[in-house]
Amino acid sequence: MVDSYRPKDLKEALSIRAEHGAMPLAGGTDLMVRYQSWTGTLPLFKNSIMFIGHLKEMKYIKKEAKDKTSTLVIGGTATLTSVANHPETPVVLKEAVLSIAAPALRNNATLTGNICNASPAGDSICALYALDAVIVIEKTGSRREVPITEFITGPGRTVLAESELVTAIKVPLKASSVNNFTKVGTRKANALSKLSFTGVADYKNGRVDSIALTFGAVGPTVVRSVELEKKLKGLSGSEIETKISAILEDYSTVIVPIDDQRSSAVYRKKVALNLLEKYLRELSRHE
Ligand SMILES: Cc1cc2nc3c(=O)[nH]c(=O)nc-3n(C[C@H](O)[C@H](O)[C@H](O)COP(=O)(O)OP(=O)(O)OC[C@H]3O[C@@H](n4cnc5c(N)ncnc54)[C@H](O)[C@@H]3O)c2cc1C
Repeated sequence: MVDSYRPKDLKEALSIRAEHGAMPLAGGTDLMVRYQSWTGTLPLFKNSIMFIGHLKEMKYIKKEAKDKTSTLVIGGTATLTSVANHPETPVVLKEAVLSIAAPALRNNATLTGNICNASPAGDSICALYALDAVIVIEKTGSRREVPITEFITGPGRTVLAESELVTAIKVPLKASSVNNFTKVGTRKANALSKLSFTGVADYKNGRVDSIALTFGAVGPTVVRSVELEKKLKGLSGSEIETKISAILEDYSTVIVPIDDQRSSAVYRKKVALNLLEKYLRELSRHE
């Protein structure tokens, strides 16, 4: 038996974190599996847990506008279903969220839980890297914001301290005309990714103005190369088309997957590059 807590509000939740370091349980869809023992028996948690899924202060999604930039702020207990249904959710994030598990599970599971679980196969993470999401972290008396690329430090690892909670995820709402999220799994629902791909890009005056390309489940964390993206900025659609082979060669050096129970390294690399090629061809037609 371990202690369990059910705080009445966020303030109490933060003080329980500070005092006991109790592990947050939001939807429980990762934790109930991670700590399961035998089928039909209760999960065997090792340390105290704190239920947070009911906390209303974090159950929101809102759009904020400041200095001509807009941001979608997704509260720490917002469910995957609410993220998918929100009219301002960027299309790649919506697609990524709808690829997770199945409807019943998405009604309970949270976006924050998907990120904090920090699985290399976490589907929303691939999209959130491409969207330059920022994670809002709070503890009693202080608050910090960390880019998602720095929040996740390895498989199952984040920078979150025992006294802290993730209270929101900020997603900048940027112009993006060529969008793609693709997940490759064994079936449409309730299947973890063999790999995933996200591409977002926008043209200005016929030239690529912004671009982000990310690959999930092909490394310990999501793979994104800002250096290689820089090489694509400023190109026209026809220039992209002529450079596709060279771009694929560049990316084949940064996509270095492993074999595991879900797929092989050879398959992952081949399919990741195929998805990139498909996206680049689409991009080249959109200028
Ligand atoms: C059948 C099944 C299918 C699945 N399919 C997919 C899939 O296709 N793709 C995919 O990516 N995932 C999948 N998952 C995994 C899971 O559903 C998601 O990762 C989900 O988003 C987790 O959210 P949750 O609220 O249930 O997290 P929880 O299980 O409650 O928590 C997960 C982790 O996040 C931490 N945490 C939660 N909230 C906070 C917070 N506010 N602050 C700090 N830490 C926090 C917890 O302590 C824990 O470490 C599947 C799971 C199951 C059981």
